[in-house]
Amino acid sequence: MVSRVIPVDAFDLVIFGGTGDLARRKILPGLFRRFLSGQMTEDSRIIGAARSDMDADGFRQLVRDAIAEFGGAESKEAEAIDKFAARLDYVSIDAKGEGGWSDLAGKVRDGVVKAFYFSVAPSLFGDLAERLHLHHIADAESRIVVEKPFGRDLESARALNQSLAEHFQESQIYRIDHYLGKETVQNLMAIRFGNVLFEPLWNNHYVDHIQITVAETVGVGGRGSYYDKAGAMRDMVQNHLMQLLCLIAMEPPNKFEADEVRTEKLKVIRALQPVDHHHIVRGQYDKDGDEPSYREDAENPRSFTESFVAMKVGIDNWRWAGVPFYMRTGKKLKSRASEIAVVFKDLGHSIFEGDEARHRNILAIRLQPNEGIDLQVTIKEPGPGGMRLIDVPLDMTFSEALQLEADEAPDAYERLIMDVIRGNQTLFMRGDEVEAAWAWTDPIINGWEARNDVPKLYDQGSAGPDDALMLMHRDGRRWRDIKG
Ligand code: NAD
Repeated sequence: MVSRVIPVDAFDLVIFGGTGDLARRKILPGLFRRFLSGQMTEDSRIIGAARSDMDADGFRQLVRDAIAEFGGAESKEAEAIDKFAARLDYVSIDAKGEGGWSDLAGKVRDGVVKAFYFSVAPSLFGDLAERLHLHHIADAESRIVVEKPFGRDLESARALNQSLAEHFQESQIYRIDHYLGKETVQNLMAIRFGNVLFEPLWNNHYVDHIQITVAETVGVGGRGSYYDKAGAMRDMVQNHLMQLLCLIAMEPPNKFEADEVRTEKLKVIRALQPVDHHHIVRGQYDKDGDEPSYREDAENPRSFTESFVAMKVGIDNWRWAGVPFYMRTGKKLKSRASEIAVVFKDLGHSIFEGDEARHRNILAIRLQPNEGIDLQVTIKEPGPGGMRLIDVPLDMTFSEALQLEADEAPDAYERLIMDVIRGNQTLFMRGDEVEAAWAWTDPIINGWEARNDVPKLYDQGSAGPDDALMLMHRDGRRWRDIKG
């Protein structure tokens, strides 16, 4: 099946930090794919803006190289790459000084959607916002896109929000969390709110608990010095896992519209219970033969930063009272796998006896690999000899179910950038959501710091520290296997 492509309005997209790692790996190859699909019209343009001293041809070459390295199958489309390159321009600019700004002002057109992607360090966000305003490059219709990390605590997030709010309305600010751009994450809302089957069961009468796992096999090597100042809680939980939890737990919005959805997510964050430190486990991966330990990767022999965190969280509202949400994320784990599992309760009464009575329904939403949905149902084991029951998955891998060609489904970044151009903020975090998430996260991190909490070591290739397993065992529950 070829997915429907609806072209977006003509745009000028300025990528500040257009020569950086994120631009080369994700943003530029993603834009090329949207160009190939016909979604980005030929009169749209992309302007790289960064410190490097190069001209438009130098930037075109950088983009060609990025597509060759990170672009996948479409990197073979030589003719299309030429056409795409003709839509590219470049300005050498200094976010903190005056150099390059009048040049940029001369390039950005009126009469098209103007979007400015801040793919630079957050310390430059305020400078960029101010200079876009001072040089009359942005107007009341323009959009800005900002990347994580969106602060490192409530105070810094507030300061960032304020620095952007001086020049842009909230309706112009797009805070990217690429997890929200994943097909399955959006499908979570389609499944919940587009089917009659699930919503009646989506509460504490029928749900025993929920598990959210985001497991990575990579370590922090390469970005160790950045990561060591953040840790799994700041880098993953405060943003990505929190967003997943919100989508699972939120009340049905009145409409599928940006502020309706974001208001419901905000209510979930505000209803999160503070986490008791007995309900949270931190870990650091250990050395494994020649494979360096976390501390070696972070080049900090006394680091107390966590590369793994697992926790049990409660939500104080009618729907979820008494239902634990278990979340875990970490590096150097056994597989690269992310999923959300809704584990339903036992039957109120089973007509079957012994082991046959102990079967549960589980709805697992796989974010990676093989985005899809898997509903575990109980059926009769085939064959004669009585009624034996087994659990089987009703498995729907999207690429199979929808017969998508490999790589056809847009990557999260491309989808989100097209949403920016369309002016659809549904899948972007609002400022108050980000602040509420930090308000919940700060006391946890401050508690670790005050106690000098030392993370538990865990084996590389494992499911994290044993204490994380105990976190569920104590409640008579088990984590699902991390299967890549
Ligand atoms: P990078 O260091 O590779 O690139 C930084 C870019 O900013 C370069 O193009 C550089 O020329 C430009 N720049 C730096 N100082 C400048 C100045 N004074 N004026 C104008 N341009 C300037 O960084 P990156 O990895 O691409 O990350 C960019 C942002 O995205 C950061 O905030 C980062 O935290 C965030 N981010 C990156 C990734 C990733 O995978 N790389 C993932 C998520 C978020």
